[in-house]
Amino acid sequence: GAKLKDEIVHIKQILGAAQIAFEVKGNTELSETPLLIENVLSMSLKEAITNVVKHSGATFCSILIEQSHNEWHIKVEDDGVGIPKEDSFTGHGLQGMRERLEFVNGSLEIESVNGTVLHIRVPNVIQ
Ligand code: ATP
Ligand code: MG
Repeated sequence: GAKLKDEIVHIKQILGAAQIAFEVKGNTELSETPLLIENVLSMSLKEAITNVVKHSGATFCSILIEQSHNEWHIKVEDDGVGIPKEDSFTGHGLQGMRERLEFVNGSLEIESVNGTVLHIRVPNVIQ
C-alpha cells in the first residue's frame, strides 16, 4: 500500500535531487486513516511535488500535514513562478488529483500567490 510516511521519504529524495530546499511540518504518521484515504492523500502529495519539480522553478517548498478530528489536510506551498488559471491546464495530473479527492468527498484548492499553494483536503465523516 502507499503509506503517506513512505511517500514522504520519496518526495524528500525528489526535492533533494532537484536541489529545492524544503520543510515538512505536521504529523506524517496518520492514525486510524482508511487505506483508501491514505492512498489518495499519498498520490495527491506525489503529484503536487512532481509538479513543483517540473513546473515551478521554486527554490523552496513547504509541506504541512494536519490531521484533525474532522479532516485530513495537506498544504503544499512553493515559491516558484505561480500557476496559470485552471481553465488553461493542459495536463491531467491536477484534474486526476481532484477527481480522486472528490471520490472520497475531498477537495483540491489551488492558489497562486508568490508561487503556488495547494490545499488537499479529505473530510473525516466517522465521528
Ligand atoms: P501531467 O501531470 O499530466 O504529467 P502536467 O504536470 O503538465 O502534466 P498538471 O499536473 O495538471 O499537468 O498541471 C497543469 C499545469 O499547471 C502544468 O502544466 C503547469 O503549467 C502548471 N503547474 C502545476 N503545478 C505547478 C506549480 N507548482 N508551479 C507552477 N506551475 C504549475
Ligand atoms: Mg502534473
